[in-house]
Amino acid sequence: MLIPRFLLYLLLLTLPLTALGQNATLTAPLAGADDQPKGAPKLEHFDPNLVDRSLNPCDDFYKYSCSKWMTANPIPSDEVFWTTGSTLELWNENVLRETMEAASNNGATRSAVQQKIGDYWAACMNESGIEAAGLKPLQPELDRIAALQSKPEIALAIAHLHHLFAGAWEQGDNQTNAPFFGFTGQQDYDDAAKVVAQIDQGGLSLPNRDYYIKTDDKSVETLKKFRTHVQKMFMLVGETEAQAGSDAGAVVELETAMAQAQMDNVKRRDPKNINNKMSLAQIRELTPSIEWDAYLKAVKAPASDHYIVTSPDFFRAEEKLLEQHPLEQWKTYMRWHLIVRAAPYLTKALVDERFDFFYRTLAGQEQNEPRWRRCVHNADRDLGEALGQAYVDRAFPPESKARTLEMVHAIERAMQDDIESLTWMTPATKEQAIIKLKGIEDKIGYPSHWRDYSSVKITRDSYLGNVEQASAFEFERWVAKIGKPVDRSEWTMTPPTINAYYDPQLNTINFPAGILQPPYFEMAMDDSVNYGATASVIGHELTHGFDDQGRKFDAHGNLRDWWTAEDAKQYDQRGKCIADEYTEDVPEAGPGVRQNGLLTQGEDTADNGGIYLALYALEAELKKQGKSLDDKGPDGWTYRQRFFLSFAYSWCSNIRPEIARLAVTTDVHSLPIFRIDNVVSNMPEFAKAFGCKAGQKMVRANACRVW
Ligand SMILES: [Zn+2]
Repeated sequence: MLIPRFLLYLLLLTLPLTALGQNATLTAPLAGADDQPKGAPKLEHFDPNLVDRSLNPCDDFYKYSCSKWMTANPIPSDEVFWTTGSTLELWNENVLRETMEAASNNGATRSAVQQKIGDYWAACMNESGIEAAGLKPLQPELDRIAALQSKPEIALAIAHLHHLFAGAWEQGDNQTNAPFFGFTGQQDYDDAAKVVAQIDQGGLSLPNRDYYIKTDDKSVETLKKFRTHVQKMFMLVGETEAQAGSDAGAVVELETAMAQAQMDNVKRRDPKNINNKMSLAQIRELTPSIEWDAYLKAVKAPASDHYIVTSPDFFRAEEKLLEQHPLEQWKTYMRWHLIVRAAPYLTKALVDERFDFFYRTLAGQEQNEPRWRRCVHNADRDLGEALGQAYVDRAFPPESKARTLEMVHAIERAMQDDIESLTWMTPATKEQAIIKLKGIEDKIGYPSHWRDYSSVKITRDSYLGNVEQASAFEFERWVAKIGKPVDRSEWTMTPPTINAYYDPQLNTINFPAGILQPPYFEMAMDDSVNYGATASVIGHELTHGFDDQGRKFDAHGNLRDWWTAEDAKQYDQRGKCIADEYTEDVPEAGPGVRQNGLLTQGEDTADNGGIYLALYALEAELKKQGKSLDDKGPDGWTYRQRFFLSFAYSWCSNIRPEIARLAVTTDVHSLPIFRIDNVVSNMPEFAKAFGCKAGQKMVRANACRVW
C-alpha cells in the first residue's frame, strides 16, 4: 500500500529471505507437514538444549540462547540476514510455488484464480522470453515521457507513473517514495468512519532522506555510488556514457532537494504532525505548478471531504523546484523512476545492475535470490489474496486458529488486569483504556472474504505488463475508497506473511496464518513455548494500541486525546525511560552507529509490555491446569525458563552489518539482540527464572516499565 498508515509491525525489515540453511531439522510435524512441499526445508522447532551452557544467561541472554544456533547457521550468500524464522519463510514460499506451478500447467480446466496465478507465474519464469523482448515492453512508456511538451503536462505523467508502480513496489523499496509525491485514500484521522484523500511527501529512490543529506564519509560514498548506478542504468537503456552521467547528476540534484524538504521519520511518528487538512483550493495554491485537477481526474479520485497533506513544507519546496528546473530535467527524473521501477521485470542486465546497488551495496547481499523466489514474492504482493487461499487450505487448520484465539483472549484478559492494577494511571483514564481494549477486533489467519481480482488482466506474454496491471488495480482500489465508508474487514498483510500488526485506525490486531507456524507457534508444543514466542507477539501488538502513537487514537480509531494531562505526563516519563535506554551504540552495524531511541520507542515499549502480558497470561493458564511457572517441564527446565528460552529462540538472527546499518536509520524496530537483552534486563521475573543477581548485566539498575 502506498501511504503509511500507522500500522505497527512486529518485524525488522521484511526484505526477501533466501536459500536453505543446512541445519534445519524436523523434530515434530506441523499441521499439514505430511504434505511437505518439494524443495522446502524442514521447519525449525524450539529446543532448549540449543542453549550454550558455557555462557551465563545473566550476562547476555541472547548469546546464551542463540550463539550455538548462530554459529551453525551462517547467512547464505543470497541473504542479508538469516533467522530461526527463515526456514519457515522458505517453507511458505515453496507452498506458494507449488500452487502456482500447478496452476500454470492446468490448461482449460482452470478456475479464474488459477488462470491468474498460473499465468503470472509462467510470465515471470519465462526468462528467455523476457530477454528476447529486451526493452520493448518499456518503450511505449519511454516514448510517452519523451513526448511531454510543457510543464503543465507533468501532472498527467505523474498520474500515469503512479498507476504503473505505486501499487507494486519491489521488495525493499521505501513505500513512501512515490515519484513526486504519494496519493491514496486513507481513513480520516478525526473521523475514522470516513475515507479521505491523502497526499504524502515522496520523490526519492533511496530508502530515506538521510541518504541524501548526511555528511559522514560512509553516507557521502553511498550517494556517490548511487549516482554511478543511475548513470549505468541510463546507459543500459541506450544513453551514451556522457549523457547518462549528466542525466544521473540531474536526478541526484532533484532527489537531494526533495530529501531536504521532507519531514523526518521521528517527526512523522506523531500523527498530529501529519494531519494537515486542506481544501482543494488550498492545495492548488500550495503547488500551482502541479495541475491538481488534471491529476485527480486522471487517477479517478472521487471528491474528498478534505485532503490530508502530510507535509505542506515538502510541497512548498516542490513548487519552487518545479518552477526553477527545466522540463527536460523533470523528464530525466521521470525516466529514471520509470527505469528503476520497471527494472526487476525486464532483462538480466537491468535486474543485475539494480541488484548490485540496491541489494549488494545498500544491504550487503552478495547474490540475488533465485528467480523462483522473486516470482513468489511479487505474486504474493500483486495477487496475495488469490494465492493466499491455497496457503490457508494447506497450512492453517481450524485447530490452529482456535488455539491462537484462546491465547489472544488470555492476553486481552491479562492486559485488562494490568490496566486495572496500574498505580500511575487515574481511574478516568483506566476506564477509557478498557473501553479501547474491549473495542479491539481480533483478526486471525486470513480475511473473512477474499479480494476479487477479476478485473486484473494477467497474461503469459508480459511480466512487466502483469505487474503494471496489478499495480493499477491496487492503486485504484485505494483511491476509489475516498468518500466511501471504511471497510473494516481489510487486511494489509497477505495470509502467508510472517509478521503481525496493530491498526490503530481500525483498532484491530492482525496475525496472518504465515506466522502461526513453527518455530513461532506449534500445536505439538506446550503453552510455555507458544506463549514465549507467539503470545509475546500478541501482547506486543495489543500494547501498540496504548503506546506513544496508538494511545493518541480512541476505541473507534479517531485521533482523540482520551488521557488526563497527569496520566499523559506519567506515560511520557515511562516512555522516556525506554527511549533513553535504547539510545545506544550498535556495534553490529559498525563503529559509531548509534540507535535513536525516539524512533524505536513505540516498538521497544511493545516488546517490553508484550512479554509481561504473555508471562502473566501463561501463569493464569498454568494455574487452571494445576501447575505453576516454577514447576519443571518434561525436559527439566521450569515453565518460566522455557518461556524465556522460547522467546529468545524466536529472535535468533545473523545479520549483515550493511543491513543492520540500514535498519538503524530507517526501521522503527530495534535489532534482535536488543529485543531480547534489553527486554529481559528490565524484568525481575527473568532474574527469578535464571537466578540472576543485582550487578549482573541482565539485571538493570534503572529498569523501565510501562505495562
Ligand atoms: Zn510492533
